[in-house]
Amino acid sequence: SPPPSERAKPRVIALANQKGGVGKTTTAINLATVLAADRRVLLLDLDPQGNASTGLGVDRAARGAGTYALLTGDRPLAELIRPTPVPTLSLIPADTDLAGAEVELVALEDRDRRLRNVFTADAARLAEYDYIFLDCPPSLGLLTLNALVAADSVLVPLQTEFFALEGVSQIVQTIERVRRALNPGLALEGIALTMYDRRNNLSELVAQDVRGFFKEKVFETVIPRNVRVSEAPSHGLPVTLYDSRSPGAQAYVALADELRRREKVRAA
Ligand code: ADP
Ligand code: MG
Repeated sequence: SPPPSERAKPRVIALANQKGGVGKTTTAINLATVLAADRRVLLLDLDPQGNASTGLGVDRAARGAGTYALLTGDRPLAELIRPTPVPTLSLIPADTDLAGAEVELVALEDRDRRLRNVFTADAARLAEYDYIFLDCPPSLGLLTLNALVAADSVLVPLQTEFFALEGVSQIVQTIERVRRALNPGLALEGIALTMYDRRNNLSELVAQDVRGFFKEKVFETVIPRNVRVSEAPSHGLPVTLYDSRSPGAQAYVALADELRRREKVRAA
């Protein structure tokens, strides 16, 4: 393999939205899994609830040290990386201490750039990955801020429901603030419409509204509401492995394709 200096940097993509239950974790797990078919991917669980860890088969009892130890500098990154059911997808789980991190980080030096500093310090180790996904908690506190400061781009999952546009302005403003003050390179990767219900006219109206406002920033692929998606985490598997033929799994394959197509367009 080429020396570290010649390897490309991994693309760091944060999944963020201050609302809970909009599909951040599901999108993180499944995009990471689909891209891992021919890329090396690392997922960091930055939500104290640890749903990304559970959803990839690392139960609460088995969690041990993870992103809390990473942010506080208690453990080196290499010691925290765990395997998942997907061979080329690795995970840094949420440790149980992460719940205290929002409060404890306040007192630490560089409190909003802890993660970025780790990525810089461990750049050689991380160069073996093509993508790093950051699954954020449902708030705009210090954990999400650390993710946005360390990321190249943000992907905002948006539940296709009536107040969708009102909720999204807060995260978009936060992205703009981070860009001005802390991470000028931060891009909006895109907005992904989730839990779309074909039988409900409201879903289509909301989708049109969001596209009218955010234009091409909205992914063409919409993720349908699909019971297989909600079943998969209890089996410790991404839906793309649990039931690869389900509409939810196929939508995530399409979303990953679209993400790659957009990357190529940007690079050209
Ligand atoms: P967040 O991380 O934003 O809180 P999750 O990804 O955990 O959201 O999703 C919230 C809940 O909705 C979870 O129980 C998840 O399994 C379920 N869910 C997510 N996407 C879908 C979908 N497309 N269809 C059905 N259920 C879904
Ligand atoms: Mg989540």
